[in-house]
Amino acid sequence: MTIAGLQKLSLIDYPGKITAVVFLMGCNFRCPFCQNPELVDYHYRDETIQIKISEKEFFKFLESRKKLLSGVCITGGEPTINSDLPEFISKIKKLGFSVKLDTNIFNPLMIEKLINGSKENLIDYFAIDIKSSPENYSKASGVEIGIKKIEESLKIISKSKIPFELRTTAAPRIIGREEIDKIKKWLKNSGVLEKAEIFAIQQFRNEKTLDEKFKKIKPYSDDELKIFGKILEPYVKKVEIRGI
Ligand code: SF4
Repeated sequence: MTIAGLQKLSLIDYPGKITAVVFLMGCNFRCPFCQNPELVDYHYRDETIQIKISEKEFFKFLESRKKLLSGVCITGGEPTINSDLPEFISKIKKLGFSVKLDTNIFNPLMIEKLINGSKENLIDYFAIDIKSSPENYSKASGVEIGIKKIEESLKIISKSKIPFELRTTAAPRIIGREEIDKIKKWLKNSGVLEKAEIFAIQQFRNEKTLDEKFKKIKPYSDDELKIFGKILEPYVKKVEIRGI
């Protein structure tokens, strides 16, 4: 595992908690609208950016923040591509922190391992990316995928008692009103939507994107994002529009 970055303090990444955010290098997706290409692959990294922290430094930092922080958000890239993720999280939990995991859920084996693989309660909160409706998942994720693995992970997480939120980035050309409606039907019929704590619609930003073409795409207006929210509202505990 490579720790590619550390945000020492965040008040917004984990509902109700003051956290640090740790960014793990690498991702199994290539979403064209990705706003963190430098975390996806070294190929996308600006050579002037030198961000790499040893695990030793990271845990030393956490030790020093035991009284100030209550949680750690693990994000990426995609954290579940790291086979040593359970051990890494276990070390964080032993220091007394709650753990939130951001994931694209394309690795159901790791999701299963994290939830049911040991007696330890490793994850306290999941933030799950929903890239698109099932039929458009390959386009949205930038890789040829079947939806089976995504659905398998959704089943494992929604069967567990671990709270989770769903998040969709409203990237034009990928997401629109019809697409949100299809996502709603898909997740409602599979019983996932009603169990989510929050469905977050995230504003797309075009300053930095994995696919250069997306830099030319204008984000949706705030009002349009609110309309997306309205489509979901009757079926979910809470809708949040983020980044406006
Ligand atoms: S937006 Fe897509 S490509 Fe970027 S880190 Fe997330 S899953 Fe990976």
